[in-house]
Amino acid sequence: MSTISKILIANRGEIALRVLRACKELGIATVAVHSTADADAMHVRLADESVCIGPPPSRDSYLNIHQIVAACEITGADAVHPGYGFLSENAKFADILEAHGITFIGPTAEHIRLMGDKITAKQTAVELGIPVVPGSDGEVTPENLMETARQIGFPVLIKATAGGGGRGMKVAKTEADLEEAFNTARTEAAAAFGNPAVYMEKYLGKPRHIEVQVVGDGAGNAIHLGERDCSLQRRHQKVWEEANSPALNVEQRMRIGQICADAMKKMKYRGAGTIEFLYENGEFYFIEMNTRLQVEHPITEAITGIDLVHEQIRVASGAGLSVTQDEIAFHGHAIECRINAEDPRTFVPSPGTITHFHAPGGLGVRVDSGAYAGYKIPPYYDSLIGKLIVHGRTRVECMMRLRRVLDEFVVDGIKTTLPLFQELVANQDIANGDYDIHWLENYLARTSA
Ligand code: ADP
Repeated sequence: MSTISKILIANRGEIALRVLRACKELGIATVAVHSTADADAMHVRLADESVCIGPPPSRDSYLNIHQIVAACEITGADAVHPGYGFLSENAKFADILEAHGITFIGPTAEHIRLMGDKITAKQTAVELGIPVVPGSDGEVTPENLMETARQIGFPVLIKATAGGGGRGMKVAKTEADLEEAFNTARTEAAAAFGNPAVYMEKYLGKPRHIEVQVVGDGAGNAIHLGERDCSLQRRHQKVWEEANSPALNVEQRMRIGQICADAMKKMKYRGAGTIEFLYENGEFYFIEMNTRLQVEHPITEAITGIDLVHEQIRVASGAGLSVTQDEIAFHGHAIECRINAEDPRTFVPSPGTITHFHAPGGLGVRVDSGAYAGYKIPPYYDSLIGKLIVHGRTRVECMMRLRRVLDEFVVDGIKTTLPLFQELVANQDIANGDYDIHWLENYLARTSA
C-alpha cells in the first residue's frame, strides 16, 4: 500500500475547498495551485502551501500539465486530486503523473480513455451488461446515415463521439431533417472537439436524467451509492439535483445500482464514477460514464453519510473501500441547488465583488462555497459560486427546509440564481416530483416575458 502524505489539488473554487476539507480530516498535507486571478481564493488561503501556476486563462494555468507537475516536484506532493472539469478526465495527465511517480486520484488512464470516447463507452457498457439507448453500431457516415436512421426509427439524435457539454448534438425529427442534422452535428463536433465523428441514437421524448454513483477499489470490489435525479437542466447543464430520484422505487434503485456495481467489478474500476442514464417508461438507457467526482456528489453523501473524497483517496492509496454494499443504507432525501453568479432569468454571467455574504445554517444544511464578503469573482471561469445542499427525513421535509434556507441565503453585489430556486421550490410540478429533462426550459420559456 502506497501511503499518500501530501495532495496537490489541481482545481479551484468550491471543489478545491471540498477536496481540501477531506485531506485535512485525513491528516494529509495540502498544496493549492492557482492562477494569478485566484491569489485571494479561499482554497489558497486554507491550504498548507500554494503555488501560482500561471496567468488567468485556464489553458495557461489549471490546464497547464507542465506547470502542475512542476508544482508537485517543488512541493513534494505525492498525489494529485483533479476535482471535476479541467484535467479530471484527461488520460494524458494521468499517464504523465504516473511516469513521475505521482498518484493520480482517479481511475487508470486506460479507463478514462475507454469512457472518454462515447462509441467505445457504449460498446463497453453493452459488454458489461448495462442497458443502452438503441442506436448505431459505431460511427455514422453519409453512406449509412439514412439506412441507420430508418432502422432505429425517427426521431433520432446525432451525437458527437468526442461529445461533452451537449455540443455536437442534433435531433432529426423526420427523414427530411436528417442530412442537415448530420452536417451541423459534424461541423459543431469538429469545431468543439477537433473530431467530427458522430453516432446516432433513438431520440427519447420525455426522459428523466438519472445517474448512479459508483466507487471501485481497482481490484474487483465495487459498490453503488444509489442514484441522483438531474433532470432539471438548462442547455444540458444541471441546475437542481436530488437523491433519491422521485421517480424510482426501492426495487428499481437496487436493481440498476447492482447492474452498475457489477459492471464496475468486471472492469476492476478504480475510484469514483458516475454512470448516466436516461429513464423513460420504466427503462434505463446508458448515455455516458463520467470517470471523476461530480458537482452533485454531496446529495449522495447526505443520504448515505459516506464521504466520497475520503473513498477516492483511500482507493488511490491502495487502502480499499471503507464500506461494503451491505453496510450502505439510504436515509431521507437531499436536494442540491447550484448557485451561479448569473442573472436568474437570462443566465448571463455576473462577475464582480460580493459585498455581503451570509450562508444559511441549521439542521440538514450544507453550503459548499469558496465565496465570502469582499470576494471578487473573476470573469475567466465558470460561474458556479457555491452549492446549497439540504437534507430531510422525507422529500416533503427536505422541500420545507429548502424553502426556509433559500430565504436565509444572502449574496449581495452580484446577480445569482438564488431567486430561480425560490420559484422552483414553490412550484407544484416540482413539489410533485413531476418533471423531465425538458421541464425547466419549458418553464423558463413560459414564464419569461
Ligand atoms: P454530453 O456529454 O454532451 O453532456 P450526454 O450524452 O451526457 O452528452 O447527453 C446530455 C443530455 O442530452 C442528456 O442529459 C439529455 O438531456 C440529452 N440527451 C442525450 N441523449 C439523448 C437521447 N438519446 N434522447 C434524448 N435526449 C438525449
